[in-house]
Amino acid sequence: MFDRNLVINFHAVEDPVWMEKILLFLDRNYKLISIEELDEWFKGKAKLTNSCLLTFDDGHRTFFSNVFPLLTKYRIPACLFVSPDIITKQENFWFRKVQYYFSPDFVKHLQSQNGFSIEKNSLYECRNKMKSLKYVEISEILRTYEDKFHPALMEYENITQEQLKEIHKSGLVNIGAHTINHPILANESYETSKTEIVESIEKLNELLNYQSFSFAYPNGIPELDFGSREQAFLKMMGIRYAFSTRNMFLSKDIDKYSIPRTGLVDETIGKAKLKLVLGPAWDFFKNIGKVGETEISIRQNIVQQRKG
Ligand SMILES: [Zn+2]
Repeated sequence: MFDRNLVINFHAVEDPVWMEKILLFLDRNYKLISIEELDEWFKGKAKLTNSCLLTFDDGHRTFFSNVFPLLTKYRIPACLFVSPDIITKQENFWFRKVQYYFSPDFVKHLQSQNGFSIEKNSLYECRNKMKSLKYVEISEILRTYEDKFHPALMEYENITQEQLKEIHKSGLVNIGAHTINHPILANESYETSKTEIVESIEKLNELLNYQSFSFAYPNGIPELDFGSREQAFLKMMGIRYAFSTRNMFLSKDIDKYSIPRTGLVDETIGKAKLKLVLGPAWDFFKNIGKVGETEISIRQNIVQQRKG
């Protein structure tokens, strides 16, 4: 049944019991590989069947508390993608701030600042509409919201520098960069996109005193979130593997600067199994009847409105 190779993508993992169940399920059904083994496969030096690489984006504190102890316990390799300034400056990501601030006031503020029509008043809609903006515009919305409404201070929610170093030292987790501010790179100017990528790699390498070779694009949808411009910056920086969030199985002829990943959030084992077996067909079934409500359609509509 599980005869394909794939990469799985997780973000924050709030429930360690769920994580352990998923890890044991994956461990029973796949060979859980490291990025070095994936590298050997791409180079034609190793055969892979029924193999799976686990990746975790953003470096949320739950990676250290809920995931890393399990990876160590079962000796499961993984990749972690982090934004170095977020960790050294103890900042929170913009999309997590939006989640924290989300309220009727925030929706009104967003509408008045950008003229967005927010019909569903949902966090999903707000966040996806904001993904059509440049990072400076997003931070201005957040700054003016904070000035006007004085929300309660948001606690720092990512891993610390010491934790990052401990994870790195374990040798079990390959750490790669994930930009400085988590912008939608395709929205940014040439210079900003370049700085976001180059500085995040340089700062990460310096922090861990090593040469990183992997990267995950923020949000990760090919064309919509990144393109050949970003891939060229990564090649220039010595990155060999860059991960997207396009849901597909692995094949040897895929672009190593757009490696597909299947996302898991908090699915039951049954649903996770279905998602992993169906691969890209899962998205097709999931989106039936959701015309205009998927992330891609929400964002493409905004692009159309801006042009029109
Ligand atoms: Zn991310």
